[in-house]
Amino acid sequence: MEESPDVTVVTHATLVDGAGGPAVPDAVVLIERGRIAYAGPAAGAPALPPGARRIDARGGTVMPGLVEAHYHATYFNVAQLEDLDIKYPVEYVTLLAAANARLALACGYTAARSGGSLFNVDVWLKKAIENGLIPGPRLAASGREICGVGGLMDWNPDYRKVGMEGLVLLVNGADEARAAVRKLVKDGVEWVKTYPTGDAASPDANDHHTLCMTFDEMHAVVATAHNHKMKVTGHCRATEGIKNALRAGYDTLEHGTFMDSEALDLLLARDVPVVPALYFELASIERGKEFGLPQAVIDGHQETLEGGVESARRILKAGGRLGMGGDFGFAWNPHGDYARELTFFVKHAGLDPKQVISCATKTGAEIMGRADEFGTVAAGKLADLLIVDGDVLADISILEDRARFLAVMQGGAIKAGRLAHAATGDDVR
Ligand SMILES: [Zn+2]
Repeated sequence: MEESPDVTVVTHATLVDGAGGPAVPDAVVLIERGRIAYAGPAAGAPALPPGARRIDARGGTVMPGLVEAHYHATYFNVAQLEDLDIKYPVEYVTLLAAANARLALACGYTAARSGGSLFNVDVWLKKAIENGLIPGPRLAASGREICGVGGLMDWNPDYRKVGMEGLVLLVNGADEARAAVRKLVKDGVEWVKTYPTGDAASPDANDHHTLCMTFDEMHAVVATAHNHKMKVTGHCRATEGIKNALRAGYDTLEHGTFMDSEALDLLLARDVPVVPALYFELASIERGKEFGLPQAVIDGHQETLEGGVESARRILKAGGRLGMGGDFGFAWNPHGDYARELTFFVKHAGLDPKQVISCATKTGAEIMGRADEFGTVAAGKLADLLIVDGDVLADISILEDRARFLAVMQGGAIKAGRLAHAATGDDVR
């Protein structure tokens, strides 16, 4: 990996700042000691210090590094849900997670918020990345997820005697919910991921199933987590489950599929971000059959897709916030396909590409509580940047193609892309 020189200057690219500002053609981005010193038109750029590393990105786009807002490092492209916690021992899943983190960075994702992991793998993955042992996104860890006994994530029947030890903490009532959060405090997570509602993927707790957790359990989770300065999110599809989560004080919602007007009002009143994760639904519909998904489940994904698109559009139109994350790690939407979520929102949901990029950068950083550090290209921020060959606003699907990446930068250091390869012969892919 290349050492970061003190000063780098990116020239001739179109700047998409992630904050929603107008695209700036022929822009200059000046990076000093890992931070952005200037970003704007070449005409207004300060004199460049001699000896600066120069990156000529003519015909390209410079933008913030992407933020995966619903990331499962330990999901290893499974076709069967139950494989997630019993197919491999945690030792091997940890190595798979490290490979997934390396891949996410190579795909332009310089930061990611975990949406649940096997055991505490993501807590230690985060530490390994921060200590420079392995490349990967800046992580927010969530460890094991919390679900009510008999809910969506409690899929192993008792007669198998395997429980759900690695993937979820199962709770019965508010006291057990508090105890589960306190365990997560000791584990060192930042986000508590819960399962208030069902999902099309589960015939026993489908997408309209509201009570995988009771309101009392959810409220106990939030009160305990907030007391320990942790944030809470939840898998929320069914309408009443969404309202329960918002009334219980959730900090974000995953999916937010079936929003009615009352749910939208509750959401907007506290400006709670939602991560729809909708390409997962499309991939399940288009590719689920080849991996053995039953037709009833595929039909459920179709309903979820339609409800989810409508809700996402309403949220943005009403001034709410969406994060981009995709639940990648299943056979039909494997790791590496992350940017397909962005393409989905432009091509299938009809959103503006610049707005989708802001959702995938600025809002992602806001969700992580780190918007003062990264997520936009602005003076003072960390130089977590993606430099791409091509006009991303004209064709957002360019972001799916790593061969088009000139550089993926974290704090001004080139971690992946053609320039990383050119500099060292090494490449993280
Ligand atoms: Zn998920």
